[in-house]
Amino acid sequence: MTFTLKKSTAAFAEAKRYIPGGVNSPVRSFRGVGGTPPFIAKAAGSRIYDIDGNAYIDYVGSWGPMILGHAHPEVLGELKEALERGTSYGAPTLLETELARLIIEAVPSVELIRFVNSGTEATMSALRLARAYTKRNKIVKFAGCYHGHHDSLLVKAGSGATTLGVPDSPGVPSTIAGNTLTVEYNDDEELAAVFEQHGEDIAAVIIEPVPGNMGLVLPRPGYLEKVRAITEQYGALLIFDEVMSGFRVAYGGAQEVYKITPDLTCLGKVIGGGLPAAAYGGRQEIMEMIAPAGPVYQAGTLSGNPLAMAAGLATLRLLSQTEDFYEKVITMTAALCAGIQAQALAYGFNFQFHQAGTMFGLFFSDKTVYDYNSAKQSDVAAFNIFFHAMLAEGVYLAPSQFEAAFMSGAHTHADIGATIAASGNAFAKVAEY
Ligand code: PMP
Repeated sequence: MTFTLKKSTAAFAEAKRYIPGGVNSPVRSFRGVGGTPPFIAKAAGSRIYDIDGNAYIDYVGSWGPMILGHAHPEVLGELKEALERGTSYGAPTLLETELARLIIEAVPSVELIRFVNSGTEATMSALRLARAYTKRNKIVKFAGCYHGHHDSLLVKAGSGATTLGVPDSPGVPSTIAGNTLTVEYNDDEELAAVFEQHGEDIAAVIIEPVPGNMGLVLPRPGYLEKVRAITEQYGALLIFDEVMSGFRVAYGGAQEVYKITPDLTCLGKVIGGGLPAAAYGGRQEIMEMIAPAGPVYQAGTLSGNPLAMAAGLATLRLLSQTEDFYEKVITMTAALCAGIQAQALAYGFNFQFHQAGTMFGLFFSDKTVYDYNSAKQSDVAAFNIFFHAMLAEGVYLAPSQFEAAFMSGAHTHADIGATIAASGNAFAKVAEY
């Protein structure tokens, strides 16, 4: 059967009549790679299925949450039970306390936690809290890191903002963006220089400890320690944005792997088990400034939603109780990376492969990628050919060079073998160009 997206193409045209660009999040639009996004009908395990009848081995996993695979029977079971009890109460539940307890056990730097609905809300609220706590206004972020779409952080932003060529969005007042200082990731000297100049005004440094929004980039040895040390030296808070890396690179996130204790942590994706949930948390003394315990206001009609809490709880329970879950998925991820790398080499490409736990990424570049500048030097045209060839072979990757890929517990050795074989055919297409 030849690969076609006929129905999806019609659906995309129809969606564009009602929704800007036809999508509710720009990263889904295929704007970077061109063509039509498959419209998805259903998902199960490692597969997603589109309305044209195509099946794909999925390495997007809803952009990170689906670490157990899609429609995991136990998660669905918990969700069905929760659904029968009603969908939202706007009042406290036992589920919230239980999920908070599980997260605090997993991430010891988090002593108190507040649930919100998206990663954007989590980082926005964490910044407000850091500013209130330190009584300072400026924040530092890293070029190519993405923390959501609120004004303070839509500055040199990665992910879709980079794919679409708008890392600094129109509409963000310069008075707000002016309080956001940006430095290159992995460059401790530039960070030190910024602190030398503005140190007394810096409320917080917010960082993806393992950035996954300019493609997947790894911290150089000792780098995160330096970021921790300089924030301490100047009395600025260190905010780890682990919305993507939390429960992904390890159960306890990047802070477990790199043994760094941030002051505040943002979480999302996996903790909602595929439903809208995110959170920010940290040292008790800081978190107690949040209303109603303290004066820093932050609220949410659907925050701690019982369905999202039930899905998150089921997911974290399975992650912590399945023997060697991370070891197994990390080993599978390594096998996939090695297999694809061998295919790339066979076609003469010396590309950059990065892995962090169950996340991985491939830069179409023969130079070491360690920051936004080096990531942007990748051959996007080559990536786009590879991407479309993989899609036609039944492998669904994120539709941009500047995104990471995600493995799940549902991926099988057969999936890995099929993906590696597909990559050979895709590299052959890239070699033609
Ligand atoms: N922080 C990071 C590190 C992210 O990867 C993302 C989303 N990909 C966000 C924050 C924003 O989360 P959301 O899309 O849920 O607002």
